[in-house]
Amino acid sequence: MIHPLEPSEMPDQSYDVIVCGSGSSGSVVARRLSDDPSINVLLIESGGMEYSDTITHAARWPENIGGPQDWGFMSEPVAGLNGRALLMSMGKVVGGSSSINAMIWARGHRNDWDYYASESGDPAWGYQAIQEHYRTIEEYRGVADLPRGTDGPVTVFQPSQRHPIATALVAAAESLGIPRFSNPNGRMMEERSGCSLSDIRADGETRMTIFDSYLRPVLGRQNLTILTGATVERIAIESGRAVGVDVVEGRRRHHFRATHQVVLSTGSINTPRILMQSGIGHESELTRLGVPIVQHLPGVGENLQDHICFPSIFEYRDAIEPRGNGSAATIYTAVRSDSASPDVMMCQGEFPICSPEIARQHFVPQHAWSLVAGLAQPRSRGRVRLRSSDPREKVILDLNALSDPDDVKTAKAAVELSREIGAQAQLRELTKREAFPGATYGNELDLFIREAAVPFWHQTCTAKMGRDEMSVVDANLKVYGVENLMVADGSIFPRIPTGNTMAPCVVVGERAARILTS
Ligand SMILES: Cc1cc2nc3c(=O)[nH]c(=O)nc-3n(C[C@H](O)[C@H](O)[C@H](O)COP(=O)(O)OP(=O)(O)OC[C@H]3O[C@@H](n4cnc5c(N)ncnc54)[C@H](O)[C@@H]3O)c2cc1C
Repeated sequence: MIHPLEPSEMPDQSYDVIVCGSGSSGSVVARRLSDDPSINVLLIESGGMEYSDTITHAARWPENIGGPQDWGFMSEPVAGLNGRALLMSMGKVVGGSSSINAMIWARGHRNDWDYYASESGDPAWGYQAIQEHYRTIEEYRGVADLPRGTDGPVTVFQPSQRHPIATALVAAAESLGIPRFSNPNGRMMEERSGCSLSDIRADGETRMTIFDSYLRPVLGRQNLTILTGATVERIAIESGRAVGVDVVEGRRRHHFRATHQVVLSTGSINTPRILMQSGIGHESELTRLGVPIVQHLPGVGENLQDHICFPSIFEYRDAIEPRGNGSAATIYTAVRSDSASPDVMMCQGEFPICSPEIARQHFVPQHAWSLVAGLAQPRSRGRVRLRSSDPREKVILDLNALSDPDDVKTAKAAVELSREIGAQAQLRELTKREAFPGATYGNELDLFIREAAVPFWHQTCTAKMGRDEMSVVDANLKVYGVENLMVADGSIFPRIPTGNTMAPCVVVGERAARILTS
């Protein structure tokens, strides 16, 4: 069979497993299951197979935001952000968000994974156990300080052409007492604080997506069918068992049957949406919207988190062009005395990054770099809800960012730390001035963070794994109360991983495949 197929080319038929979504988790599930020739896998992806130049050329990643391969999810106005709405991008193309993201590879902190193990009641999610997954995932081409994978499908690089700002930033952080590590994904992920050059998923100037790493090499497999340009609307559920999916392609409708399992890997906004459209969610809410209830699970769509962030901008003394992915240094640190793990995560942008509101209010120098400080462990929680029972309607995306006063305090401390780092001698050599926020304190700083906040686009946690009544999946990623239905994507984290979220989503894909095949 020639792959991939367009929906119009293929008959509606039956598969052993249907994987919905080909992103950072779904690509992994489909690949690993299809490694067994006896499992017949259908992978359904809403986006297309083609990559634009803005996808393949690493430094052009910001141009994907709001572009044709972005779902373009817009939040409701956020009270904590002075009523601003944020664009919560996610990739709509094979590879999902790994095809439009900033390519930073961050494995998640020891305390994150140990928390997932305790919430799920399964040590297989703990930090030690997850190390073994990473050894099968990675082919690491950097200086390791803990054992790293050497022959996995995911090549991880340290930047070959180091931007002067990246090396100066690490030196500046170190001069303030933040310990320097050879890479951010070994011992640094076990500490409260650390700085390093980043691990990235770009080979020089060229992006590598999770689809490229897992699926492109096996596209010819007879037991793997990839269907692009097709959107899953509902899971078909009969007598409490998932038996297939309803799919639309333009005006055409398809029904595919799954004899063994349906796996939802459609990302943390569309996964709760599809669950709710299928009658799985809060009973009173779904009944009010006229969606027939299949399973009351009040946690569906709740617990939404992102590392909302607050960029400071520094004008270059002499313009320096971005290199590689344009972001090559990482700092994790704790600004609160009660934080056991990092509560602030920082990365550098080798170009100016700011909210549209800040760009309107300030002069943003063309030749500038950014220090982007995000809340590593935000306390505010948002939610995803259906607007109506019509699957074509946009969801209600209620971010609720900065609703917890502790998040506001942490955000202010993070911006003050950015200023302090930016003022260190190593960076002053390259930087003419801090363009903004500059010397801003008290209420003025409060106003700045609310106007300057932008997403890290790490939206996660909306179908959380756990054992309380708000949990949606158990330790085996099975949806409570529905047979043969699994969620495997960024939705399942009980709380957001410290650091960027792509690598933990790959782990989720690996765990899902292992659970299904063992
Ligand atoms: C601009 C941006 C920058 C980022 N930068 C980084 C970074 O540098 N490092 C990092 O680690 N993380 C980064 N992230 C976040 C990271 O990429 C995501 O957290 C991660 O890829 C999520 O994986 P996922 O499998 O949950 O969802 P996704 O990778 O988004 O995959 C979901 C897939 O499902 C498909 N889909 C959705 N709905 C349907 C449907 N109804 N039917 C069929 N298919 C559907 C989507 O098109 C998509 O392909 C960034 C994200 C963005 C948007």
